[in-house]
Amino acid sequence: MALVLSFHCGRCGQEYAVYYPKAVVYPLYGQGTREQGAKEDEAEARSGAIGALRARAESQGKVWVNAGEVQRVTCACGKELNLDLSLHPRIPQRKPSGPRQVGLIPLHPSPPKKE
Ligand SMILES: [Zn+2]
Repeated sequence: MALVLSFHCGRCGQEYAVYYPKAVVYPLYGQGTREQGAKEDEAEARSGAIGALRARAESQGKVWVNAGEVQRVTCACGKELNLDLSLHPRIPQRKPSGPRQVGLIPLHPSPPKKE
Protein backbone atom coordinates (compact mmCIF):
# COMPACT_ATOMS: atom_id res chain seq x y z
CA MET A 1 0.00 0.00 0.00
CA ALA A 2 1.44 3.29 -1.04
CA LEU A 3 1.90 5.96 1.58
CA VAL A 4 0.19 9.19 0.64
CA LEU A 5 -0.24 11.92 3.23
CA SER A 6 -2.29 15.05 2.91
CA PHE A 7 -0.78 18.43 3.67
CA HIS A 8 -2.46 21.80 3.80
CA CYS A 9 -0.73 25.00 3.03
CA GLY A 10 -1.04 27.01 6.23
CA ARG A 11 -1.45 30.23 4.33
CA CYS A 12 -3.82 29.64 1.43
CA GLY A 13 -5.26 26.23 2.29
CA GLN A 14 -4.13 24.52 -0.90
CA GLU A 15 -4.15 20.77 -0.35
CA TYR A 16 -1.27 18.57 -1.29
CA ALA A 17 -1.27 14.81 -1.68
CA VAL A 18 2.26 13.75 -0.98
CA TYR A 19 3.37 10.33 -2.09
CA TYR A 20 6.23 8.86 -0.12
CA PRO A 21 7.84 6.04 -2.06
CA LYS A 22 8.92 3.07 -0.01
CA ALA A 23 12.48 3.79 -1.09
CA VAL A 24 12.16 6.83 1.19
CA VAL A 25 10.01 5.28 3.91
CA TYR A 26 11.77 1.96 4.46
CA PRO A 27 15.19 3.21 5.49
CA LEU A 28 13.53 5.82 7.70
CA TYR A 29 11.50 3.23 9.59
CA GLY A 30 14.08 0.50 9.43
CA GLN A 31 11.60 -1.69 7.53
CA GLY A 32 14.00 -2.48 4.78
CA THR A 33 16.57 -1.03 2.50
CA ARG A 34 16.11 1.69 -0.06
CA GLU A 35 16.66 -0.95 -2.75
CA GLN A 36 13.87 -3.19 -1.43
CA GLY A 37 11.59 -0.17 -1.25
CA ALA A 38 12.46 0.90 -4.77
CA LYS A 39 11.55 -2.55 -6.07
CA GLU A 40 8.13 -2.40 -4.43
CA ASP A 41 7.63 1.17 -5.65
CA GLU A 42 8.28 -0.02 -9.15
CA ALA A 43 5.78 -2.86 -8.79
CA GLU A 44 3.15 -0.46 -7.47
CA ALA A 45 3.79 2.01 -10.25
CA ARG A 46 3.57 -0.77 -12.83
CA SER A 47 0.29 -2.03 -11.39
CA GLY A 48 -1.20 1.41 -11.91
CA ALA A 49 -1.87 1.92 -8.19
CA ILE A 50 0.17 5.10 -8.01
CA GLY A 51 -1.39 6.55 -11.12
CA ALA A 52 -4.85 5.86 -9.72
CA LEU A 53 -4.02 7.58 -6.43
CA ARG A 54 -2.63 10.53 -8.31
CA ALA A 55 -5.67 10.82 -10.56
CA ARG A 56 -7.98 10.72 -7.54
CA ALA A 57 -5.97 13.34 -5.64
CA GLU A 58 -5.91 15.66 -8.63
CA SER A 59 -9.63 15.19 -9.22
CA GLN A 60 -10.08 16.45 -5.63
CA GLY A 61 -8.10 19.57 -6.42
CA LYS A 62 -4.99 18.44 -4.62
CA VAL A 63 -1.52 19.00 -5.89
CA TRP A 64 0.33 15.72 -6.29
CA VAL A 65 3.90 15.66 -5.03
CA ASN A 66 6.31 12.77 -5.26
CA ALA A 67 8.43 13.10 -2.14
CA GLY A 68 10.95 10.74 -3.69
CA GLU A 69 11.77 13.53 -6.10
CA VAL A 70 11.14 16.69 -4.14
CA GLN A 71 10.52 17.37 -0.46
CA ARG A 72 10.38 21.13 -0.55
CA VAL A 73 7.75 22.80 -2.60
CA THR A 74 6.80 26.42 -2.92
CA CYS A 75 3.06 26.88 -2.86
CA ALA A 76 1.35 29.02 -5.46
CA CYS A 77 0.87 31.60 -2.67
CA GLY A 78 4.62 31.73 -2.10
CA LYS A 79 4.78 29.80 1.16
CA GLU A 80 7.51 27.20 1.40
CA LEU A 81 6.31 23.76 2.42
CA ASN A 82 8.71 21.22 3.86
CA LEU A 83 7.42 17.73 3.20
CA ASP A 84 10.37 15.90 4.74
CA LEU A 85 8.88 12.78 6.28
CA SER A 86 11.45 12.73 9.06
CA LEU A 87 10.12 16.09 10.26
CA HIS A 88 6.56 14.89 10.24
CA PRO A 89 5.16 14.61 13.77
CA ARG A 90 3.89 11.08 13.15
CA ILE A 91 7.37 9.84 12.51
CA PRO A 92 9.38 8.35 15.37
CA GLN A 93 12.83 9.76 15.77
CA ARG A 94 15.36 7.22 14.63
CA LYS A 95 18.74 8.64 15.23
CA PRO A 96 21.20 5.75 15.57
CA SER A 97 23.53 7.60 17.95
CA GLY A 98 20.88 9.68 19.69
CA PRO A 99 20.62 9.39 23.46
CA ARG A 100 16.82 9.47 23.42
CA GLN A 101 14.84 6.55 22.06
CA VAL A 102 11.23 7.39 21.41
CA GLY A 103 8.87 4.44 21.39
CA LEU A 104 7.93 3.11 18.03
CA ILE A 105 4.87 4.88 16.72
CA PRO A 106 2.87 2.74 14.31
CA LEU A 107 2.41 4.19 10.92
CA HIS A 108 -1.20 5.24 10.50
CA PRO A 109 -1.48 7.67 7.65
CA SER A 110 -5.00 8.89 7.22
CA PRO A 111 -6.42 6.92 4.31
CA PRO A 112 -7.41 8.88 1.25
CA LYS A 113 -11.01 9.95 1.53
CA LYS A 114 -13.42 8.13 -0.70
CA GLU A 115 -15.75 10.40 -2.52
ZN1 LIG B 1 -0.32 28.37 -0.15
